[in-house]
Amino acid sequence: MSRHTRTRGLGGTLVRRDDPGYEDLRRSAVWSGLTPARFPDVIVRPATAHDVAEAVRLARSQGLRIALRSGGHSWCGSPLRDGGMLIDLSGLRTCTVDAASATATVQPGLTGRELISELGRHGLAFPTGHCGSVAVGGYLLSGGLGWNPGVRGPACADVMEIEAVTADGEPVTCSEREHPDLFWAARGAGPGFFAAVTAFRLRLYPRPTAITRTTWNFPLADVAEATHWATGAASELPPDVELSFCLATAEPGTSPGPKVVTVTGTAFASSRQEADEYLGPLRSCPLAQRALSRELDEPTTFEALYEGSGAAWPPEHRYAADTLWSDAGFPTLLQRLADAIDTAPSSRSLILAPVLPAGRPAPDAHDMAFSALGESYVVPYAVWDDPRQDAANIGWLREAMQSVEPLGTGHYIAEADLTADPSRVRRSFAPDHWQRLQSLRARYDPDGIFYSYLSPDDARS
Ligand SMILES: Cc1cc2nc3c(=O)[nH]c(=O)nc-3n(C[C@H](O)[C@H](O)[C@H](O)COP(=O)(O)OP(=O)(O)OC[C@H]3O[C@@H](n4cnc5c(N)ncnc54)[C@H](O)[C@@H]3O)c2cc1C
Repeated sequence: MSRHTRTRGLGGTLVRRDDPGYEDLRRSAVWSGLTPARFPDVIVRPATAHDVAEAVRLARSQGLRIALRSGGHSWCGSPLRDGGMLIDLSGLRTCTVDAASATATVQPGLTGRELISELGRHGLAFPTGHCGSVAVGGYLLSGGLGWNPGVRGPACADVMEIEAVTADGEPVTCSEREHPDLFWAARGAGPGFFAAVTAFRLRLYPRPTAITRTTWNFPLADVAEATHWATGAASELPPDVELSFCLATAEPGTSPGPKVVTVTGTAFASSRQEADEYLGPLRSCPLAQRALSRELDEPTTFEALYEGSGAAWPPEHRYAADTLWSDAGFPTLLQRLADAIDTAPSSRSLILAPVLPAGRPAPDAHDMAFSALGESYVVPYAVWDDPRQDAANIGWLREAMQSVEPLGTGHYIAEADLTADPSRVRRSFAPDHWQRLQSLRARYDPDGIFYSYLSPDDARS
């Protein structure tokens, strides 16, 4: 074990604020290059689930509040808090697959790419997030809107059981039978969950053996017509097609460069022929003459999908993101956001809108904290690399959101900018879910050992 301070019974590493290496560890706790100026007193990296329980007891005994981290992909840097103990679970990353029952037990530090790769060896899959480096921990707790959402719904609907350490340091198993309330909260509470999850048991599904893509690129000026056409076509697509819009610079990284709207359909099927049939409604387009480019029925793989998203969200950049659910149609929402992308200070910034609202289950299909709050869903991302441009890019994101917020019905807790306004968190849940989360937090963590959601009072940087 590498260690700065050893504490009886606690494996892994423990680093205090004055120890050498503290600042590197603190910075690496957040994937975005925009590291918040928040400084935990102690950073613990447990090696096992047993160490997590030891760390929680140690924090309690020393009067330290606890923040948790799995992969550090929170856009607003939620694992970093001022003071207290950060328990970084990124070292817990095993994956055990039981192919016979099509289930897997995964630890929170495992990334989506690692999971999908391991499942591939068994002919199985799971709705992992769109970027390979996102860890399953924070992703599953937030709901998880991943690949193939029309069929699978939010990823947390396929969580069958969790192992967690509660505020009093006790390991518990939670499912619909054991600690059902905590299990309900673990499926959607996101970055305000009040226990440390050390493992998830997942329901898997047969791996789609043919994935194909159809992509149309139009000038940004055609955004209203392009979205009108594609949302119409969406009604003819089977749920196995994930359809999305992206507003971005044609060649990100060039300055300033023409802006485009891209319509992408990704079909998840069991044969090439089936995949091509799925994408049929996107093959012809009344705006075809105005398209800048198109690619029809291109075969692809999960690995290639991850390569593509890795290029759109490159590491070592600075990020700010926000989300909005809405019942306004995409033509209205994206027309407003097209005006925003046109003025983005960074040519890497983009606005994403999944058309089949990722994982909108029938109202009572799943009893869990995750709340799908609208028919449409958009996510603007500010992406830049120059620290001198922080204010301009964060300001741009806020203005982009202001242009659509009057049309909003809520936010998605995984990617909402919780530092933007105090109502973001509450508005990320259906009102009765929010009430229940509050009372469960009071019951499971009466002393407030675990930090709750970030708020605008928490400094960003
Ligand atoms: C590049 C990128 C792409 C993304 N793509 C998607 C996507 O396709 N779909 C989607 O739904 N989301 C997506 N997200 C959002 C992502 O799901 C959330 O940011 C999620 O919290 C990341 O998980 P993490 O473990 O890396 O988070 P972390 O930053 O490590 O944790 C965030 C918070 O979650 C809580 N938490 C984390 N681990 C635990 C644990 N083990 N026990 C208890 N609480 C814990 C803590 O409160 C923590 O502060 C993306 C984010 C990024 C940066």
